[in-house]
Amino acid sequence: MEGAGKLVEDEEMRAAMIEKGLGTPATRAAIIEGLILQEYIARNGRELSATAKGLALIHLLKGIGIELLTSPELTGEWEAKLKRMEAGQMKRKDFMAEIRDLTADIVAKTKNFEGDSVEGDFGELDVRCPKCGARPLKGEYRVWRCASCDWRMFRSLAGRTFSPEEATQLLRDGHIGPLDGFRSKIGRQFAAPLKLDGEGKILFDFPAGNGQGEAPDFSQLAPLADCTVCGKGHVYALPTEYACERVWAKDEPCTFKTGRTILQRDIAPEQVIKLLATGKTDLLHKFVSKKGRAFSAYLKLEKGKVGFEFEERKKGKPAAKGKAEPADEAAPAKAEAKPAAKKAPAKKKAPARKKAASVVE
Ligand SMILES: [Zn+2]
Ligand SMILES: [Zn+2]
Repeated sequence: MEGAGKLVEDEEMRAAMIEKGLGTPATRAAIIEGLILQEYIARNGRELSATAKGLALIHLLKGIGIELLTSPELTGEWEAKLKRMEAGQMKRKDFMAEIRDLTADIVAKTKNFEGDSVEGDFGELDVRCPKCGARPLKGEYRVWRCASCDWRMFRSLAGRTFSPEEATQLLRDGHIGPLDGFRSKIGRQFAAPLKLDGEGKILFDFPAGNGQGEAPDFSQLAPLADCTVCGKGHVYALPTEYACERVWAKDEPCTFKTGRTILQRDIAPEQVIKLLATGKTDLLHKFVSKKGRAFSAYLKLEKGKVGFEFEERKKGKPAAKGKAEPADEAAPAKAEAKPAAKKAPAKKKAPARKKAASVVE
């Protein structure tokens, strides 16, 4: 960051940055650690490099038209203005007005950005389409897409962005990993291998048993309800999730588990009881999507896993699944797993146009 001034063309800006660089020495280390923590950059020995997520952010900022935030010129410009103010060549009032204008402009552009897509060159993967065999696959802002059929793959899954190299390996070999850095809906980090199924869908490839880590101690807990998914176990309220005890079973593990908090909304035990008994909760309000939008939805049992069923919208726009949570296309492989069929929950036929979407972990 000290060297950022070298990248700045304008004389005056460069001069201002030669002394200061980006940020102050005191804040610099914290800024770098923050970027590593947020996974925008990664440290490899002494080198720092942008991650796929970091590059995606830069693409997004360019697409929205606030490239300024991606360039060292921004700091150079403001350092130069600070110097002019120090030297009495610029009034504080004018300086502050300019800062305010710039901030308002950035906020307005971000707020007005509605598109799901961003213009730009997102490269290609030189690998065959897993569905039709055509190559290469074209990169877009959110997906890699086949030009010959409808196959596409989201560039991120469960909060993790794939690098082109990882995607290439997965599509070429049919599997990859375990890769770390995935995040469940309730924010828990996990590592998992991935695989391609016969239709070119990307699935988590968890080993046998559906629970992560050791089975919890159920001996001190009172069961909440009988599990209607496997028909054998009981469902308990654990510290962070509701789960069937048979999720941790070695043979025919159960698939029923769901967060006690989902997208910032607490899920009451009564709703879980209702979900198990009828296959669906009441309409629950105040979920907050990753983009910060509040929405209402039912939780619904589907193939032994819990997913959303969105509230029906007013005429015209069907409640589209991809819009709010585009990263969730590939549901964990377990959804198709074994035991669910035995004693399926009392499933009501969903009315037309309502669509259960992403699986809730
Ligand atoms: Zn194809
Ligand atoms: Zn069960």
